[in-house]
Amino acid sequence: MKINHVVVIGSGTMGIGIAAQLCNANIPVTLLDLKTEICEKAKKRIYESKPPLLIDKSKIDEIKIGTIDQNLDAVRKADWIVEAVVERIDIKLNLYEKILKERKKGSIISSNTSTIPLKVLSSKMSDEDKKDFCITHFFNPVRYMGLLEIVKESFNDLDKINFLKNFCEENLGKQVIICKDTPGFLGNRVGVYAIQVAMTEAIKMELSVDESDALYGRPMGLPKIGAFGLYDLIGIDLMADVLKSFLKELPTSDVFHEVAKEIPLITHLIKNGYTGRK
Ligand code: NAD
Repeated sequence: MKINHVVVIGSGTMGIGIAAQLCNANIPVTLLDLKTEICEKAKKRIYESKPPLLIDKSKIDEIKIGTIDQNLDAVRKADWIVEAVVERIDIKLNLYEKILKERKKGSIISSNTSTIPLKVLSSKMSDEDKKDFCITHFFNPVRYMGLLEIVKESFNDLDKINFLKNFCEENLGKQVIICKDTPGFLGNRVGVYAIQVAMTEAIKMELSVDESDALYGRPMGLPKIGAFGLYDLIGIDLMADVLKSFLKELPTSDVFHEVAKEIPLITHLIKNGYTGRK
């Protein structure tokens, strides 16, 4: 198998990052979204991105664009189709139905979801289609974040998963870890837990935000942004949703429950519209 052409569907934050990184690797890529104007804006975002998503900005027009309604036939010649649309199960399932009708037999389909289990996303697929479907969870900004999680299930074709892993390591410069289909996969399960521990302890110890972030950073071998800084960057409201989703998915015996209790300060900030720098 070879990856000669990739179609990325969804031209938001993650879709543009993935398309640009493929372009950096000289892999022909087509970016699709609901409307042509959305894709044109997406290309402008790639061009103007800081730090730059493209190594060589003059290659911007090598990223082809189109709409899902009119140009989905692009998936017929794609060896890999990456879905990076909004985090809504109904929208993703509807899109897979369309892709599966058009795609080339044996091509790989993956979702960039950060929270929806592979079991759920593949629930309506035939056994044959499921073999080719996995989660490729890239992190933002795609060019600069080394980690890529590939989530697989027992129904996957393992040779294909290993092929994709090698492709992403050798061509996209990623450090790939193969994860089980469990809540938060690996990075978020460990990372969000660690942030919550830092924040709960800082509040207990009555540290200021600056003191806490100064400690929970470089001195611990972590990025200097700190736990509060990360909340601010990710979105304080988004973090609250992520926690709710973890609490729903994880058994009550899981230690995560101890550090994901509502923090009055955070609730107060969200209520008053202070949702972070994002
Ligand atoms: P985004 O909101 O920036 O972009 C989503 C894109 O989906 C938009 O371009 C929008 O036009 C398109 N879209 C909306 N409705 C659609 C529909 N009905 N059909 C087709 N396309 C539609 O989102 P994002 O941050 O790029 O996230 C995309 C995926 O990646 C999500 O599954 C998200 O959970 C995941 N993810 C996001 C991040 C992050 O940091 N933003 C990190 C890892 C994973």
